[in-house]
Amino acid sequence: MADIIQLLPDNIANQIAAGEVIQRPASAVKELLENAVDAGATQIQLIVTDAGKSLVQVIDNGKGMSETDARMSFERHATSKIRAIDDLFRIATMGFRGEALASIAAVAQVELRTRKPQEELGTCIDIENGIVTKQQPCACPAGTNICMKNLFFNVPARRNFLKSNTAELRHIMDEFIRVAMAFPHIFFSLTSNGQQVFYLEAGSHKQRILQILGAQYSTKLVSVKEQTDYMNIYGFVGKPDAARKTRGDQFFFVNNRFIRSAYLNHAVSSAFEDLIPKDCFPLYVLYIDLDPGQIDINVHPTKQEIKFEDEKIVYAFVQSAVKHALAQFSIAPSLDFSL
Ligand code: ADP
Ligand code: MG
Repeated sequence: MADIIQLLPDNIANQIAAGEVIQRPASAVKELLENAVDAGATQIQLIVTDAGKSLVQVIDNGKGMSETDARMSFERHATSKIRAIDDLFRIATMGFRGEALASIAAVAQVELRTRKPQEELGTCIDIENGIVTKQQPCACPAGTNICMKNLFFNVPARRNFLKSNTAELRHIMDEFIRVAMAFPHIFFSLTSNGQQVFYLEAGSHKQRILQILGAQYSTKLVSVKEQTDYMNIYGFVGKPDAARKTRGDQFFFVNNRFIRSAYLNHAVSSAFEDLIPKDCFPLYVLYIDLDPGQIDINVHPTKQEIKFEDEKIVYAFVQSAVKHALAQFSIAPSLDFSL
């Protein structure tokens, strides 16, 4: 009896691992919206109550799950998106780590209803503390409807760590906007405490950006579009007079994934050079597409940081594409910055 090491039960291991993936309601929002996108949904509704602390619900009309898959989806490292290590270099989905649902189910009460369009009956599963409390066939619309209730009900220390509803809702809106901007051909809506916050009809990238930033930006955007064999960039930068003193509306998407990159941000800012004052930040929404083998998105569980195989090429390309776009619209550095 000298041996003292034991394997942790799955539900405890999942609760520990959940800390990396699910920090706040907005993390669950991101994961659930991305799952709906990966399921090929054309309509995705997000419903939250109490800034997601009581409820985060995502309803999609995607491909749904079989009964076995519905149960499996809550296992850790259970994914339909990759099968072998090489698949990591050609990822075409938002998810691939198979951790989100296991993590969510470990720290909240989850109710899942899902049905494949070709099946008559769907499956309904309730799960709490990582333990299934109900599983049965049920009549439900095609697609997936997942509710996450009472996040961190079983981890009071983490629940107490959550910020005010205003702050948590802001995080949720940020995540919602990032996914909605990446997939303009999908309808998205966001309802908070019964009030509609966003109702975004499917459309072009420009339409989606204006739905989110406001129609007043329609005359303030300059189109960016360049293509090489190595990569592709499209999107918009704000004209210099759309620059702001606060760093707000700056979005980079790489292969449809919102990413943070101080390095690429610098590439854009440097293209504006002296078109805007030093203490102002340019507005931009830029989409970069390149071979998935040229990036590593598996740097962090939230996948907001990525590594480029060749950072310098990407930097130079972004900088020159933005410069080119600004020059084409011959924007002289003589505008009024009194805003
Ligand atoms: P990942 O997205 O990394 O694969 P998740 O834990 O988020 O891991 O989901 C596990 C699996 O459950 C997915 O691979 C997918 O097969 C299935 N799944 C999750 N959400 C949905 C959904 N909304 N519609 C259809 N299938 C889903
Ligand atoms: Mg996922």
